[in-house]
Amino acid sequence: MKQIEQWVRPNIRQLRPYSSARNEFSGEASVWLDANESPFNAPYNRYPDPLQTELKKRLARQRGVRPEQIFLGAGSDEAIDLLYRIFCEPGKSNAISIAPTYGMYKVCADINGVEYREVSLHDDFSMDTEAVLAAADANSRLLFLCSPNNPTGNAFPVSEIERLITAFDGIVAVDEAYIDFSAQPSWLGRLDEFPNLVVLQTFSKAWGSAGVRLGMAFASPAIIDYYNKVKYPYNISAPVQRYALEMLDRADDVRRWVDDILSVRSQFVEQLSVFPVVKKIYPTDANFVLIRVDDAGALYAWLVTEGIVVRNRSTVTLCGECLRVTIGAGDEMNRLLEALCRYIQNRE
Ligand code: PMP
Repeated sequence: MKQIEQWVRPNIRQLRPYSSARNEFSGEASVWLDANESPFNAPYNRYPDPLQTELKKRLARQRGVRPEQIFLGAGSDEAIDLLYRIFCEPGKSNAISIAPTYGMYKVCADINGVEYREVSLHDDFSMDTEAVLAAADANSRLLFLCSPNNPTGNAFPVSEIERLITAFDGIVAVDEAYIDFSAQPSWLGRLDEFPNLVVLQTFSKAWGSAGVRLGMAFASPAIIDYYNKVKYPYNISAPVQRYALEMLDRADDVRRWVDDILSVRSQFVEQLSVFPVVKKIYPTDANFVLIRVDDAGALYAWLVTEGIVVRNRSTVTLCGECLRVTIGAGDEMNRLLEALCRYIQNRE
């Protein structure tokens, strides 16, 4: 684990974390007078478990990892931001990623005063792993790899990701927000092999819980210890912890939802392909599809007038004239296809 220490920002290595009331005593008691809480309005009057012990135990069993390999954050966005705070020195360190990819890696770099280096994908959204590695230098600390990638939808081959994890001299965060929609295996199964690997997952996509804000980072216990040091003391509220425990009992529902989304996705892609205004439908491993059309701005605006909102990604690297369409319910996709028919008729 010596190497993890070397990558950690010096002030964080030396940090004495805040010790909360619930950190100092977490056993059984009948009178709680240690945290300046109100005695009224149970159960909301009490601070939540700062380390989400029960939830992590359940999650660990479900994902085949150990509880000490889990950090929980207010969405995986929190887990992304904290990686910068743990590993990057403002004005000195840099982070690397591909382009296009999920926007928060760069925003978090900018917030933290960290240089962000982007390596463009090829036109077909495949990755040049050696170019990614060549972008690194002695100050590189983080490498973000979103797979399946947002907004392109493609997952990267296992061999390419493994090459990056083994060759990059720093932390590699594989963002698996969309992994449940992909045939690719999760990297969770290989967590023990790579002490520098962080796997990011979320309750926001397949688990249908974007509104509750719950994300996960899975990593070696040494990395999770640092996460626990820098996070806000009570970062996951008690209602969210309870809700997540209930959700974990509904894995069968989630599997059904995913199957449904996948079947709607393949039907939608098939139906979409007959429209001449759709120039390209990129292959997808996610719950969205990136499409290139002849005038993304015009189609986007038309859909808005029809009450349908998609994401215009035209200004993003390699995504000129591209719209990103989330796969919703079957009837929602039918509404979009009908609106597309009217768009075409209207232009004729
Ligand atoms: N990673 C990727 C690739 C995403 O697309 C998103 C959200 N769109 C996130 C992370 C953030 O997810 P969360 O809701 O867990 O913060």
